[in-house]
Amino acid sequence: MILTNVTRIDADGRSSTGRHQAGSGTETVDGSGLLLLPGLIDLHAHLREPGFEESETIATGAHAALRGGFTTVCAMPNTQPAMDAPGLVAELTARARVARGARVLPVAAITRGRAGHELADLVELAAAGAVAFSDDGDPVDDARLFRSALEYARGAGRPVFEHSQDRVLSGRGVMHEGAVSADLGLAGLSPAAEETAIARDIAIARATGARLHLQHVSTAAGIDLVRSAKAAGASVTCEVTPHHLALLDEWVAGSRRFAWEPVRGASPPQAPRGVPYDSATKVNPPLRGEADVRALWAGLADGTVDAIATDHAPHASIRKDVEYAEAAFGISGIETALSVLLMAIDARMGELSVVVRALTSGPARVLGLALTDDAIVVDPLREWTVSVEALASRGKNTPLLGRRLRGRVVAAIVDGEVRYADPAWKGARRAEAVAR
Ligand SMILES: [Zn+2]
Repeated sequence: MILTNVTRIDADGRSSTGRHQAGSGTETVDGSGLLLLPGLIDLHAHLREPGFEESETIATGAHAALRGGFTTVCAMPNTQPAMDAPGLVAELTARARVARGARVLPVAAITRGRAGHELADLVELAAAGAVAFSDDGDPVDDARLFRSALEYARGAGRPVFEHSQDRVLSGRGVMHEGAVSADLGLAGLSPAAEETAIARDIAIARATGARLHLQHVSTAAGIDLVRSAKAAGASVTCEVTPHHLALLDEWVAGSRRFAWEPVRGASPPQAPRGVPYDSATKVNPPLRGEADVRALWAGLADGTVDAIATDHAPHASIRKDVEYAEAAFGISGIETALSVLLMAIDARMGELSVVVRALTSGPARVLGLALTDDAIVVDPLREWTVSVEALASRGKNTPLLGRRLRGRVVAAIVDGEVRYADPAWKGARRAEAVAR
């Protein structure tokens, strides 16, 4: 289609308003007030198939991704069986092709069965189509094994995506360790568990010269470690998640204040108050405090942070409708990510150009892949309410349920083809034109 008067932002964050082609076809659509962006790339999503289809499937996840504006998603290998064999990688790719949602790039396991004892055959997995290796959900505890994973991954020309966490230190923690965890009487996850692991991982990566990508960095000190590693020339990259850029540990106690909203008074009247111990707020790494949130935004602004990745972690209600300590970790976030980020930009937490880069050219660089000409059309002013029905994902586990958000993807184009279009979108535009 051809969009007129549309504001296009490219993968380098440059913007221009005018007439732009999006996908194939010559239909002309009024793009006034709309944004045309490159298709977003998510380095981190859990599609749950095979093994946990009650939480998500490749097809439901790939369609939820399009609604969130992500035309490419990297699927994490913590499935059952774990994605540790070339046949499983090929099967994932075949199913994704049939689903015709977002393109799905397989991330294969580092160790057999993700058990952390023995390396998977990384060279064969890369040949089968794995774009990266990760035991995400778990770190590789054994430093020697981690070193050889990095060496083989370098040989295979792929990055290692590491969930950096010292599990001895994090123990049985379920939320950020601080005043809120103390008030609630919940076991805390110490920020030091992330920081010491990041320091170890960077040191090992530097010794091997391999490409190390640190997943979901959530602490100010973690960002500082990446910043200095980059300054010293290490091939280290990192991602942050939308929930760590917007939500706070106080959400576990029932607050629903975004990090940029004032503490008292002025929060929007439609914002629901949450209840304490809502397991939808349970995520690993946990929601942190305001100083950490500010540090993540500063890391984005100065290029320390390469990508914003959703860590979309859908769960069937049975895994969340239990006591806080017992509930599964994870937030279903691929459909709310862009809205939350646009609202943060409105609140001057960061620049649109920086966020667009972190969702497009940044993740492409981490993967070492060229950008496609996939595109999305966004109505930045369209409001919507997050509800069970509004989410295409099988995972309804988000603390944003009931929340009114602003900014909505109205079309997603993959391989030149419109694979998602909001049914109301073009109809509404025509009605506006008639009314004028
Ligand atoms: Zn993880």
